[in-house]
Amino acid sequence: MYMLQPTSSELKGDLTATESLVRQNTLGETVRVDGIGLHKGTPVTLVMHPAPAGHGIVFRRVDLVDALGVAKATVAARFDTVTETTMCTTIGNDHGASIATIEHLMAAIAGLAIDNLLIEIDGPEVPMMDGSSAAFVDALSKVGLKSLDAPRYAIRILKPVKVEDGEKITALVPADTFSVDVAIDFTCEAIGQQRANMPLMNGQFCAELSRARTFGFRKDVDMLQSIGLALGGSLDNAIVIDEDDSIMNEDGLRFDDEFVRHKALDAVGDLALAGAPILGRFEGNRPGHDMNNRVLHALFADESAYELVPVTDELGLRLPGLC
Ligand SMILES: [Zn+2]
Repeated sequence: MYMLQPTSSELKGDLTATESLVRQNTLGETVRVDGIGLHKGTPVTLVMHPAPAGHGIVFRRVDLVDALGVAKATVAARFDTVTETTMCTTIGNDHGASIATIEHLMAAIAGLAIDNLLIEIDGPEVPMMDGSSAAFVDALSKVGLKSLDAPRYAIRILKPVKVEDGEKITALVPADTFSVDVAIDFTCEAIGQQRANMPLMNGQFCAELSRARTFGFRKDVDMLQSIGLALGGSLDNAIVIDEDDSIMNEDGLRFDDEFVRHKALDAVGDLALAGAPILGRFEGNRPGHDMNNRVLHALFADESAYELVPVTDELGLRLPGLC
């Protein structure tokens, strides 16, 4: 089992060049975001607080604290707390506290290189905002980051790790920078075949991916709403494709290949559950939340496939960073 915080003996020698080490960080101050949840369509408030080094990204269901107590209402955002991957990524614990649709928020957190946060949420799903990470990036970058007194670590991929399920493939491959290479293939003409192959170093997540919205088909949205799901889903928080293959949103697309960019954004958010930035390339063919999570399980099941390395100034430039 991997440990996010290496013991001092594992890092012996590495910490001598302290002047070039990047420190962990958190938010400069508490920030609040209001929106609506996709499935229930009800208002949700996130209150994101600064947290100490080694804390990681942790959610707390404040609406359950009275019933469960603080500890049982709290869930760390990690690959091994994922409980559900259909349509979105959900984390949870054995006490009935769960948080759904964390991926776009997690992508913003990873894209801005934030290590430690306590996220209070007053309902079971993260608000949809506009269906992308843009509102979270705006809110988090507005208050800025605070440096903490502990070194930051990255997970360096040492050998390829791959999971396959029919045509769906996800893999993590050794590389000098964090990058994604995602391909999708839809029979509908509005999407078709698309590929996003790009490094996501300092600032590039915000420019290239953060504004790419989730998407769905009108017939699926109608079906979901008929069974009481996606009640908050609308043209304000998703690209919707009509029966005739046309895009229903009045303003059209934000990028010609917005669909695959969103899939790459999802991958960044799901990979953020590794607990530290990944130094390597993510490859996905028709990836989804399930396959994204499975590749992390495969990675951490093989101790020879990765190592934790302290992030130096030079290495930090090859990872996502402030926009
Ligand atoms: Zn998504």
